[in-house]
Amino acid sequence: MWAGYPERISLLWVLHYLRSAGGLLPVILNDGGAQDQRIVGGSQVISERMAADLGGRVLLKQPVLRIEDRPRERMRVVTATETLTADRVIVAMAPADTMRIEFVPALPKPRLELASGWARLPRLPLVKAAVLYESPFWRAEGLNGAMQSDRSPVQLVFDNSPEDASMGVLSCFLSVVECPHLADRRTREEGLKQELARYFGPKALDATGYVEKDWSTDPWSTGCIWPLTPGVLTAGGEHLRKPTGRIFWAGTESAKRWCGYMDGAISAGARAASEVQTSLGA
Ligand SMILES: Cc1cc2nc3c(=O)[nH]c(=O)nc-3n(C[C@H](O)[C@H](O)[C@H](O)COP(=O)(O)OP(=O)(O)OC[C@H]3O[C@@H](n4cnc5c(N)ncnc54)[C@H](O)[C@@H]3O)c2cc1C
Repeated sequence: MWAGYPERISLLWVLHYLRSAGGLLPVILNDGGAQDQRIVGGSQVISERMAADLGGRVLLKQPVLRIEDRPRERMRVVTATETLTADRVIVAMAPADTMRIEFVPALPKPRLELASGWARLPRLPLVKAAVLYESPFWRAEGLNGAMQSDRSPVQLVFDNSPEDASMGVLSCFLSVVECPHLADRRTREEGLKQELARYFGPKALDATGYVEKDWSTDPWSTGCIWPLTPGVLTAGGEHLRKPTGRIFWAGTESAKRWCGYMDGAISAGARAASEVQTSLGA
């Protein structure tokens, strides 16, 4: 759940995370909990439809290199090929990801320490994999396709088949630190099927496809799920949401509800937008 070893995870972070979800059960249960609903077409559909509404205002492949907030000047957001000006800027990403942006003037020390504290965590590099089958065969055997284990290279499995059950999909999370023998993609695909066969029977070996994302290799995301080491929140937690000059902070890590989830990303964005409105009104 927190993608890290218990002794290295901040208890304050865990408590905040659980409280923001309404308790432990909503986080671990599927029914009525975090994994209750799926989005037809995949979560990306939300971003794609919002981008379609916004049209040419959405710039892709333009990572922000620098944000300038100089007194008595409009703010400047600089990419490799563009310089945009603005009255306010909302940064909507995990604190650790903001470390790749140069801020002029430099961010105040507590905000910087919050971001750098997040970035230097001992994370478990996680891979999310989907093993595809002709059908969700496990259902006929009375199995729900879910598994959680601390004794397996695969820590978490969900039935992620489409609603019409036109194919079977088992979504798996695994940490390559826990299973160095599955460190490369090919051995991982084979090893994963064998591991699934332990839980769901030999039909798990007859996969029709395999897709995976190794989050540790994503250049724009500092890992997969974010644990937080002790001390970082205590020292700089109040700066998670506190605006810095004309910069406003969103991103799911700053959410008060469903922190760490898509729901939290949306409410954090709405909160930051309303802060900007207030600030412009003032
Ligand atoms: C494998 C996995 C499974 C998950 N499963 C679920 C789930 O089932 N349900 C759920 O609710 N949540 C789930 N989550 C969590 C969910 O994806 C996040 O909570 C959500 O995406 C956070 O949204 P965000 O807008 O705060 O940040 P992000 O989605 O991380 O968006 C930040 C964006 O900023 C971009 N970026 C980074 N640096 C720069 C830069 N310098 N310039 C411009 N852009 C930049 C990144 O490319 C990224 O697109 C999952 C996450 C992972 C990794």
